[in-house]
Amino acid sequence: MTVPNSIRTGGEIDAFCGKCELNLAHTIIAMVGPKVIKVKCNTCGSDHQYRGQQPLVKATSFAAPKKSSSSSSASGAKAKTPKSAVVTISWDEQFKGKDLTKAKKYSPKETFKVDDVVDHPTFGLGLVRSVRGDKIEVGFKQEDKVLVHGKGPAPVAAPATQPAPVVGPAGVPEPGAADEPAQS
Ligand SMILES: [Zn+2]
Repeated sequence: MTVPNSIRTGGEIDAFCGKCELNLAHTIIAMVGPKVIKVKCNTCGSDHQYRGQQPLVKATSFAAPKKSSSSSSASGAKAKTPKSAVVTISWDEQFKGKDLTKAKKYSPKETFKVDDVVDHPTFGLGLVRSVRGDKIEVGFKQEDKVLVHGKGPAPVAAPATQPAPVVGPAGVPEPGAADEPAQS
């Protein structure tokens, strides 16, 4: 107990104010012998029994304050992430950081690799999730599709909606090479 010797009625003492929920300067208004009985908070003006100072750590276990949840410092053990926060990347988010202008037009003759952005004439934009031999799995907005790729000149499942670009010999993937004149 660190009780100052100068304690007397009308003097000041630090005490825990239940209203302010802080250790604050109080004015002593009642004493019995050397014991402080009642104090008056210098901050909020309410008088109450002297309870000494409250260790702030235990603030929650003492006279549970009915404060609204404005202060969350008391509930330190609260889980930060709710269970529902499953990390799901939305379809749009997967294209973040990707240059959609560089999306490859899908063609079975094209060769794709993981993370390539595919521009499919039917399914729209998709992201290559995996490559297995001559098959690629592409996540389109509607659904995932397994497509063929790297097929060179023999289009197996080519959608005949676009004119097949003139590609160099044996299906060398060369986007935009259609109109390139051979100059050498
Ligand atoms: Zn007070």
